[in-house]
Amino acid sequence: MENVTLNNGTKIPQLGLGVFLVEDKNDLRHSIEYALADGYRHFDTAAIYHNEAGVGEALAASDVKRSDLFITSKLWDSVQTYDDTITAFKASLQRLQTDYLDLYLIHWPSAGYNEKWRAMEDLYNDGLIKAIGVSNFEQPQMDQLLTTAKITPAVDQIETHPYFQQTQLHEYLANLGIAHEAWGPLGQGKGGVLKDPVLNEIATAHNKSVAQVILRWHIQRGIIVIPKSIHQARVAENIDVFDFELTDAQMTAIAGIDKHQRGSEDPNDEAWLK
Ligand code: NAD
Repeated sequence: MENVTLNNGTKIPQLGLGVFLVEDKNDLRHSIEYALADGYRHFDTAAIYHNEAGVGEALAASDVKRSDLFITSKLWDSVQTYDDTITAFKASLQRLQTDYLDLYLIHWPSAGYNEKWRAMEDLYNDGLIKAIGVSNFEQPQMDQLLTTAKITPAVDQIETHPYFQQTQLHEYLANLGIAHEAWGPLGQGKGGVLKDPVLNEIATAHNKSVAQVILRWHIQRGIIVIPKSIHQARVAENIDVFDFELTDAQMTAIAGIDKHQRGSEDPNDEAWLK
């Protein structure tokens, strides 16, 4: 597994398992078991997924040492103050059965994010989090955060897939030394991206699936990916992307299918800026 080195020196496995919407405990346990057996060490959850306890149980039941795991969780929007951030973080730790997180993110740029960041900086300085970052921050929210931040976020986790490539934001983050992490790397299985003819042709040429070509494209862009699946064959397929390389022409062809098409809420909407 390749690692990406974050701006504070922390290494993050470039590919991990996402568990959004995996609420059934058995599905969660199985997907994590399959993933660990296939070599995944990086797991991405959030307080709002209501499955941190299940992730904690599944990881605690495995033979893999805590220090070999990379666990990310996220602070939800209902938390808006310094004190509540500390409390919410400690509750996440308890549910995850761990005494530190590898990465903790502000989930959305909703009210109070400068204060939440200040609390996260203190948790980081106390050694309880290896790296702190944000999610769904675009340039205006990042600029605003940086007016008070003492620590530059290590990561921005944002919707990114071949129909929503985030080229400009990618460039902006790269200039600040902030790693780009893609959520919905497979377009959440929606919007037709998995049936795209350009991707299909490239997949056939490499004898790989479209999902594998998409994940490989992210990896060659230097992006961290956390595809989600609860199915054994797909969990295995999604990590089997380190034995082939897209050519420059194929990377360019994929750049050409961007539809600038978001599949979720726009962080620039007024509601998120309040
Ligand atoms: P995804 O792009 O990973 O798509 C998952 C879906 O793609 C699956 O449900 C399935 O339908 C399909 N799929 C998966 N593997 C496949 C394969 N090999 N072949 C064909 N189809 C396949 O979408 P996601 O789960 O929304 O995003 C990944 C992770 O990102 C989440 O699980 C979560 O951890 C995180 N996330 C974060 C935010 C945020 O706001 N920060 C939002 C959404 C998701």
